[in-house]
Amino acid sequence: MTRVGIGYDVHKLEKGDLLYIGGIHISSDVGSVGHSDGDALSHSIADALLGAAGLGDIGKFFPSEDDTWKDVRSTVFLENIARMIKKSGFSINNIDATIILQEPKIGDYIDKIKSSLATTMDLDHSSISIKATTTDRMGAIGEGLGWGAMAVASIIKEPL
Ligand code: MG
Repeated sequence: MTRVGIGYDVHKLEKGDLLYIGGIHISSDVGSVGHSDGDALSHSIADALLGAAGLGDIGKFFPSEDDTWKDVRSTVFLENIARMIKKSGFSINNIDATIILQEPKIGDYIDKIKSSLATTMDLDHSSISIKATTTDRMGAIGEGLGWGAMAVASIIKEPL
């Protein structure tokens, strides 16, 4: 049995915050604003996985009203969710995600981000695809007010 899920997330960018993408710190003049570390890529993957498993969304398990998750690295969420997926009898087949960010350019970080996510969810490198795009300077993301990510995940359960 194969199931798929989608995820989408956007966070504000402001001076004075740090920018973490897929658990990797990105050298940047602006950082992501969020209750946790504002890692929109990890959040979109989290929602894609939870969606595939029919478990709900990230806010259900890690609500921003709960101080437990304040300033927490978002890879912690992914670690937990990967464990939940396993517990429900599924394994993660593949993840494909797109980061939407005008600046800074993050092409040089993509491999590091992939490795970080693979380690976090105990997956093979080849199961994860990470892409990046801009919005050609159009709209809020194009003006640098924020950034976002979308993700698709597929999970499989082998017949008994
Ligand atoms: Mg988020």
